[in-house]
Amino acid sequence: MGNSAAKTLHQTKADRFAQLKDSISDYIQCKDKILTGLDDAERIEQQKKKILERLGATEEQWKDYKWQLANRFTDINDFADLIGISLESIAAIDEVGRTYRYAISPYYLSLIDPDDLNCPIRRQAVPSPDELNPEGELDPMDEAGWTPAEMVTRRYPDRLIIKVTNACGMYCRFCQRRRLIGETDKSVSWKQIKAAIDYVRDNEEIRDVLITGGDAFLLSDSMIEKILSSLREIEHVEIIRFGTRTPVTLPQRITDDLVNILKKYHPVYVNTHFNSPREITKESKEACERLANAGIPLGNQMVLLNGVNNDPLVVRKLNQNLLKIRVKPYYIFHPKTVKGTSHFWVRIEDGMEIMESLRGRTSGMAIPTYIVNGPGGLGKTPILPNYLMYLGAEKAVFRNWEGKTFEIENK
Ligand SMILES: *Cc1c(COP(=O)(O)O)cnc(C)c1O
Repeated sequence: MGNSAAKTLHQTKADRFAQLKDSISDYIQCKDKILTGLDDAERIEQQKKKILERLGATEEQWKDYKWQLANRFTDINDFADLIGISLESIAAIDEVGRTYRYAISPYYLSLIDPDDLNCPIRRQAVPSPDELNPEGELDPMDEAGWTPAEMVTRRYPDRLIIKVTNACGMYCRFCQRRRLIGETDKSVSWKQIKAAIDYVRDNEEIRDVLITGGDAFLLSDSMIEKILSSLREIEHVEIIRFGTRTPVTLPQRITDDLVNILKKYHPVYVNTHFNSPREITKESKEACERLANAGIPLGNQMVLLNGVNNDPLVVRKLNQNLLKIRVKPYYIFHPKTVKGTSHFWVRIEDGMEIMESLRGRTSGMAIPTYIVNGPGGLGKTPILPNYLMYLGAEKAVFRNWEGKTFEIENK
């Protein structure tokens, strides 16, 4: 190769790398403005001090999840000033709260930016008058119609979910199971849970059991251990999964005691639910790391929510930062048309744009599957931007992540 040919090749390469760099320049420019909770640690710490002062409590108490649960904020009058809510809004929030209850742990409250009325944490936690919009349905997934045993929902051949409690660390404003959240936490008896486990035992094709709710980790350690040991006695149960938002809303729940129980019953998986980079804080990071260190693979099930994360760059920042705390983005759920949540709805095009913008521009590990849930129990159905442009008897034509087309033989 002559000198000039090498130089041309070199330039071509340099151009290509410049082009690659350019293809994510929008993200590089924006990423430092999309704060994680870790980036915003100082402000959160100040809020924490104010909340502790308000409650007359200590740092030690803050670290205790039972204290966090017992001291959840359920009356707007007790915390409106802490998060910059005006007097006029208080009455409106009060009214919504009478229809849909709310409860915000002191920890999760500390993440709200008092100076930002559009704070994505605020939007998920604090009631909004928009919840009184009558659009939507109570049970669009028809979970009630797919119940072979009390607390069990079975839609698939080899796996099912057991909803072991209706309690949560926080009552998310976009909750899809609002109809079950009701007025009070219903305590479930062992007898009820045992009936669900009996159903698993009686159906040998069930190899994957998902313990969810509500929030599975709102059960006591001893109940969790009882469930795990009973399931592990069933030979055809291969994997056990927990669905819990506690690493995000109540990270103090992930205690050494709990983790020591979970790891006795491997393979145990935990899927959690981060929706915003602001939820990645020192505490939630530690909670996830504690689980990961016990050999528990962690997945994230995000819900796509208007005003929280319906932005490709926010999702990229979230997913990349989840990988840093060893959580693998698993699903992005398209929001369901649940009554009282219409202000969170987004269009399918918005979700597709997010998926399109992730592919190629970030690690495959940071790319979850985008799911729409079929109404009436038709189940999780993936949505992908289309990369296959033509499929014929002899060839297939594709476009890649950058929009370049290519074809391969189809033999
Ligand atoms: C979501 C869900 C599952 C689990 O689905 P995966 O795609 O395996 O994660 C199982 N059963 C029901 C009823 C569900 O809603």
